[in-house]
Amino acid sequence: MAVPKRRTSKSRARKRRSHNAIKPLNLTTCPQCSAVVPNHCICAQCGHYHGRSYDAGNEE
Ligand SMILES: [Zn+2]
Repeated sequence: MAVPKRRTSKSRARKRRSHNAIKPLNLTTCPQCSAVVPNHCICAQCGHYHGRSYDAGNEE
């Protein structure tokens, strides 16, 4: 099995992890029912997204 030749320094590990932070969710309001919805997500209240309704069984 391959084994690392050198120990990863704290500095190097932290630099690598500088890209790993989780950003907070972007929230918008639904234009249909004005509920708070994450961006690019179907509204949980009315099932609306991008001018279309995506309610269960109603796909056009
Ligand atoms: Zn809605």
